[in-house]
Amino acid sequence: MIHSFDALILGGGAAGLMCAIEAGKRGRRVAVLEHADRLGKKILISGGGRCNFTNLLCGPENFLSSNPHFAKSALARYTPADFIALVEKHRIPYHEKTLGQLFCDRSARDILAMLEEECRLAGVSIFLNTKIQDVSRSAEFVVRTAGAEFYAPALVVATGGLSIPKLGATSFGYDVARQFGLNIHEPRPGLVPLVLDPNERTQYCDLAGVSADVIASCDEQQFRENMLITHRGLSGPAILQISSYWKNPQTIIIDLAPGGDVTLLFRDAKVPRTFATLRAELRKILPQRFADRWLDRHAPTSWTNSALSEFEQQAHAWVVAPSGTEGFEKAEVTVGGVDTDELSAKTMESRKVPGLFFIGEVVDVTGHLGGFNFQWAWASGAAAGRAV
Ligand SMILES: Cc1cc2nc3c(=O)[nH]c(=O)nc-3n(C[C@H](O)[C@H](O)[C@H](O)COP(=O)(O)OP(=O)(O)OC[C@H]3O[C@@H](n4cnc5c(N)ncnc54)[C@H](O)[C@@H]3O)c2cc1C
Repeated sequence: MIHSFDALILGGGAAGLMCAIEAGKRGRRVAVLEHADRLGKKILISGGGRCNFTNLLCGPENFLSSNPHFAKSALARYTPADFIALVEKHRIPYHEKTLGQLFCDRSARDILAMLEEECRLAGVSIFLNTKIQDVSRSAEFVVRTAGAEFYAPALVVATGGLSIPKLGATSFGYDVARQFGLNIHEPRPGLVPLVLDPNERTQYCDLAGVSADVIASCDEQQFRENMLITHRGLSGPAILQISSYWKNPQTIIIDLAPGGDVTLLFRDAKVPRTFATLRAELRKILPQRFADRWLDRHAPTSWTNSALSEFEQQAHAWVVAPSGTEGFEKAEVTVGGVDTDELSAKTMESRKVPGLFFIGEVVDVTGHLGGFNFQWAWASGAAAGRAV
């Protein structure tokens, strides 16, 4: 069976659907080819089932990319306000949770239903369970599946990154990029829990479930949020954020007492310099079990001012050398991807191969935790959708 369209979009996730809607609204005949049995599976599980669909405080500084300027144009041309307008048009109730993060009140299903309805209104053709066998280009792009051939002058690759393979993530987008001679920045897991080395695991991981407000720093970046001890290492927002910047064998510095002064009390000469007093002070800053464990492992060598200042310094700079990450199985995103130097920042079209576009997570643009990855998917999808 032969199908002919103006644009073929490979992947029916966040970016692909937004691209299809924008292109369809312009009267383009668009097809979305999705290998799964339904659209937007990641949208459904996102934000703990409530989809953190954007962030009010979204700016280019919330993204990692080999070219930090690349995302600016698309982000400026499709803003959080644009997506919020769509959400409000569909009367989807939402709320700001924290730090500008917008979540659905009810369920992520509302966002997917909205995108599906917009696709319907824009006349987009959706092909599910569509396994792509190969992609080629002669006069037009040709996409072959088991039972059909699809032809179009524009091909948009929106197949996402490598995170959560059991939801259908594949390396397909990178393979197409390589096939057409585009450069790739090695994909690696981002927003991912970190695994501690065996020594530190034995020292801390029996405290799994304990969390604390910390500043995690690495590679000149820092995030003040919660850190959670897990059975194998560290997680929680502060660690997930910094994990996107971390590369083995770098170390991560964790300030366990942000803005606090654990030993301040001891400047008063009348205060007894004892373990009981120090423990009580530390417990004001850290959860009790973690405070006690930290004191067991880092007890001051004496009660001199310099030993106390050494103790203070260690509490503000726990040097952690993770042995690795929990990998793509647990990663929320993929860092790296199609080199932005290969693409137009305005349209996401390949500079080398006219008509070939890459959008969403497959591109070397990765957002921080907090709704930024969806905002990139919407913005890059809209950019291509206005150009195909
Ligand atoms: C557990 C989890 C929670 C998350 N929560 C949030 C959140 O709350 N807020 C936020 O901003 N971000 C969140 N993210 C990140 C966000 O989901 C992604 O950044 C975003 O979905 C990327 O959009 P995309 O369209 O590029 O890729 P995807 O949404 O991954 O879509 C890619 C699509 O392509 C399809 N596909 C793949 N290979 C092929 C192939 N060979 N042929 C055909 N189709 C193919 C896939 O099945 C999929 O439907 C979360 C991610 C995870 C894993």
